[in-house]
Amino acid sequence: MRIITHTCPACGTVVAANELERNRVMKCPGLGCQEVLRFEDLSEDAREHFREHWDRYQI
Ligand SMILES: [Zn+2]
Repeated sequence: MRIITHTCPACGTVVAANELERNRVMKCPGLGCQEVLRFEDLSEDAREHFREHWDRYQI
């Protein structure tokens, strides 16, 4: 399975995009960072990947 990550634009913390996909919106886990990360912020390529492989991400 391809691992897609998303980098917080504010602090550079890398989060797993599948977490973002599941929650849609999440607060950046970076220490002291208040940035809110959204699934919509993922690149088009990443979102396309989730649409194509949706079934594989269902637990
Ligand atoms: Zn951050």
